[in-house]
Amino acid sequence: MNDDTVPNDLPPEWLEYGRWLFAQSCDFKIGATRMDQIPPSDVPEVAFAGRSNVGKSSLINALTGRNTLARTSHTPGRTQQINFFLLGERLSLVDLPGYGYAKASKAKVAAWNRLIRDYLRGRPNLRRVCVLVDARHGLKPPDVEVMAMLDEAAVSYQIVLTKTDKTKPEALARTLETLRGALAKHIACHPHIETTSAHKKAGIAELRAGLAELTGEGPSR
Ligand code: GDP
Repeated sequence: MNDDTVPNDLPPEWLEYGRWLFAQSCDFKIGATRMDQIPPSDVPEVAFAGRSNVGKSSLINALTGRNTLARTSHTPGRTQQINFFLLGERLSLVDLPGYGYAKASKAKVAAWNRLIRDYLRGRPNLRRVCVLVDARHGLKPPDVEVMAMLDEAAVSYQIVLTKTDKTKPEALARTLETLRGALAKHIACHPHIETTSAHKKAGIAELRAGLAELTGEGPSR
C-alpha cells in the first residue's frame, strides 16, 4: 500500500534492489545503553523510533524477513537500549527504545531524551529516522516532541504508519489528510508517508526500496 498523493516514484528495479538488500544477512551488533557503547558511524544508517507498542519490532522483523531479529515485547517501556544491526555490510539498522509509555517515570523519560539526543549528535552517517505511528491513532504528543527534536537536530525523518490492517480505508484516508497538514510544520520531515502492515506485509516492499535508496548504491551495483 502506498500514499499516492506524494509518490515515492521508485521504479520496479528499486523494489527489486530493496528486496535484494533486505535479504542479505542481518547481524545484531550491540545493544547500547550508553554513548561509549555506540559503534562507529561508518556505513549509512537508518533508525526506527516510535511509541511503545507501535509495532516497531514487528516492522523491523517484516523488513528483514526474520521473525526474531527485533524482540517483540509485551512489557512496553522496559528496554532503554539502542539496538544496532548490520544489513549486508551496507546499511546499519537502529532500533531506538520505545517512548511515550504512560507509566514511565520522569527520570526514565529524561534518560531516554538524553540517550537519543547524544545518539543523534554523534551520527554523521544517519540518513533517515523512520518515526512509526499507529495508523489507528495518528500523531500523539510524544511523537510531536520527538519530531521537534529531529527538526532541531536537522535529521531527515519520515512517518511510517503501522498496523494499517486495523483501519478502514476511509479512516486511513482521514488520518493521512490530518498528518499531511501537521507535517507541513516540520522542516526535516520527508513528505512521503509510508503505510504499512507488518502482519499483512503491506507497504514493506516499498519501505525496503525507499530505505535501500539511502545507501547511495542502487540497482546498477
Ligand atoms: P513495539 O513495542 O513497538 O516493538 O511493538 P511490537 O512489534 O512488539 O507490537 C506490539 C503489538 O502490536 C503486538 O501485539 C503485535 O502483534 C501487534 N502488531 C504489530 N504490528 C502489527 C500489524 O501490522 N498489525 C496488527 N494488527 N498488529 C500488529
